[in-house]
Amino acid sequence: MNSTHPEEYRQEGLHNTATTIAIEMEALAQCENCDEVVNNHSGMKDRVRDEALKRFRAKNPRMKDFRDEQEVEDAVKGALKNTAEECSCTNEGDD
Ligand SMILES: [Zn+2]
Repeated sequence: MNSTHPEEYRQEGLHNTATTIAIEMEALAQCENCDEVVNNHSGMKDRVRDEALKRFRAKNPRMKDFRDEQEVEDAVKGALKNTAEECSCTNEGDD
């Protein structure tokens, strides 16, 4: 397959889309200083997943790279899983 979008990049895009939805829903927050994404409200996974699935079913253009609902769920899970409670610059400022 001679694709300009290898699977690796597609997966990264799915992850970014899921992260963006989570930030919009304030489940995740992006630090203004270091751009790091931190966990804003834990326990919102189901709500973010439902919203992402809703957009996927509504054929939202931003969801076009997702092939099925399982990929949407996996991306949301992944986006919420690897986030810290605090970003690095918060830690640095902690005296
Ligand atoms: Zn920061």
